[in-house]
Amino acid sequence: MSDCTFCKIISGEIPTEFLYQDEEMVAFRDIKPKAPVHILIVPKRHIEKLQEVSDNEKDLLGQMLLVAQKIAEREKIAESGYKVVVNCGEGAGQLVPHLHFHLLGGWK
Ligand code: 5GP
Ligand code: ZN
Repeated sequence: MSDCTFCKIISGEIPTEFLYQDEEMVAFRDIKPKAPVHILIVPKRHIEKLQEVSDNEKDLLGQMLLVAQKIAEREKIAESGYKVVVNCGEGAGQLVPHLHFHLLGGWK
C-alpha cells in the first residue's frame, strides 16, 4: 500500500529504528508515546485491521503476542506490568489502517 505510513516504515521510506525484526513483523517506538514505554508491533504484510485477519493467519497473531512478551522483557517492563492494545477500526481510534499491537508500560 503506497500511501500507508506503516508500509513506508517497513520499506524504509520513512527511516525508523527497529527494536525487533523478523520475516513476519517489525517493532518500533511510537512517535507520540502514550506511556513511558510505547512500542508498536506491526506485521510486514499490509493487513488493514484485526477484523481482516483470516483463520490461516492465526499463527501471526500468536507470534505478535510472543514478540510483545520478548520486547517487554528487554525493555524491563515485564515485572512491573504492561498492556497490549489493539484498536480495530476508526470508531475505536485506529488512525493507521495497518494492523498493529501497542505495547504500553513503564509506569511507576
Ligand atoms: P492507532 O491509533 O492507529 O491504533 O495507532 C497508530 C499509532 O501510530 C499512534 O500511536 C501514532 O502515534 C503512531 N504513529 C503514527 N505515525 C507514525 C510514524 O510515522 N512513526 C511512528 N514511529 N509512529 C507513528
Ligand atoms: Zn500498510
